[in-house]
Amino acid sequence: MPAKLDMVIIGSGPGGLAAGLLAKKHSKSFIILEKGSHTMQGITDTYPKGKKVYPTIPKSYPDPFPVLEIKPPDEKIPVEEYVKQAQTVVTQNDLKIHLNEEFKEISGEFPDYIVKTDKGSYFTENIILAFGSNIPNDLGIYGEAKTVARNIENGEDYIGINVLVIGGGNAAADVVSSLSKIKREAKDEATSVYWAHLNEKFEINKDTARDLGEEILLGGHIKILQKAVPKIGEVDANGIDRLYIHQTTTSSFSDDLYIYQGMSFPMKNVIACIGTHGPSAIFDALNLQQITCTGAICKIAKEGERLLMLSHHFETNRSGIYAIGGAISPSYMEIGSDGIIKEKKHSNLIYTAVLDAKKVMDKILPD
Ligand SMILES: Cc1cc2nc3c(=O)[nH]c(=O)nc-3n(C[C@H](O)[C@H](O)[C@H](O)COP(=O)(O)OP(=O)(O)OC[C@H]3O[C@@H](n4cnc5c(N)ncnc54)[C@H](O)[C@@H]3O)c2cc1C
Repeated sequence: MPAKLDMVIIGSGPGGLAAGLLAKKHSKSFIILEKGSHTMQGITDTYPKGKKVYPTIPKSYPDPFPVLEIKPPDEKIPVEEYVKQAQTVVTQNDLKIHLNEEFKEISGEFPDYIVKTDKGSYFTENIILAFGSNIPNDLGIYGEAKTVARNIENGEDYIGINVLVIGGGNAAADVVSSLSKIKREAKDEATSVYWAHLNEKFEINKDTARDLGEEILLGGHIKILQKAVPKIGEVDANGIDRLYIHQTTTSSFSDDLYIYQGMSFPMKNVIACIGTHGPSAIFDALNLQQITCTGAICKIAKEGERLLMLSHHFETNRSGIYAIGGAISPSYMEIGSDGIIKEKKHSNLIYTAVLDAKKVMDKILPD
């Protein structure tokens, strides 16, 4: 086995790259493992083509971007250019990224860990889990919903068909804008993009809202369905899997009567952008401590969900193993310096992934 490394970084998204850059600047020995065939594969796989990337900083974090090389520019470039920017950073800084190499397991104890991949093993003192979050949340409907897409593979496939996008956040808004633009440019006047959200209020940031507003003003066929609940998966008379979704039109006539307005879409025309959660099963396999949300402990995570326990520096209960970025979104349990454990909101953004990497490095690197 080659010489012991200071750290193995798993994932070459914004979090992993920021960690690699900081390690490089401090002359630390490290490798970055990426299961995909190029840097930022996770972003390439999940963003709609041409989507503009926003350098959003959540309101509660007033600090500037801690690693400027990974910051998306203020003029909001398309995702393809952002990925190119990352690849240039990798080349210019000679970051060692092992592409097409998938992390599998960890053995040993701090400070002598062995990281195993599908291609080999690495001896290291620290491990940074920056593998993102790609486990889609459950749609929670009766019946099968397996054929519902989670992002757009090819936007042109939706020209000439009515498509339903479910979700009230930025990812859903991006998909809606992007599909509407494709349909508008293809002069598809006959069909629309239906956008359904459980609540009345959508939770999108200003930049996303501006793009969406522009798309509507340019003539995009977007139909918004507030308080719309995906209800049931069903098979119609022609054998097509469908998703039925409904809105309550009156709050109630009486306790025993509600009036609904419903719509039904073939499942293959539905894209559910309802968020992702951390890879709890992987954390279990690595013996990383998690807490199950019950009662009033959690405000963001749902009852029964398991949240990773982390220190202020994103260190897990196993010394030298850290978890950052999308992998710990949308919330984790922070052990405060006073020993009190509380749920911590963690927006899944490029900024937060980069800031997490900086906080990890503040612990690992000498002053
Ligand atoms: C549609 C959409 C639009 C978004 N728009 C914005 C935006 O405009 N601005 C913004 O700030 N944020 C945006 N986000 C969120 C942002 O992309 C994420 O917060 C960010 O990518 C998280 O970075 P990360 O490094 O933690 O994980 P990721 O970017 O997911 O990177 C993880 C990497 O790890 C690799 N990997 C996974 N498992 C393994 C393994 N076992 N072995 C080796 N490699 C592995 C993956 O291939 C991936 O490349 C958007 C998200 C989506 C889905």
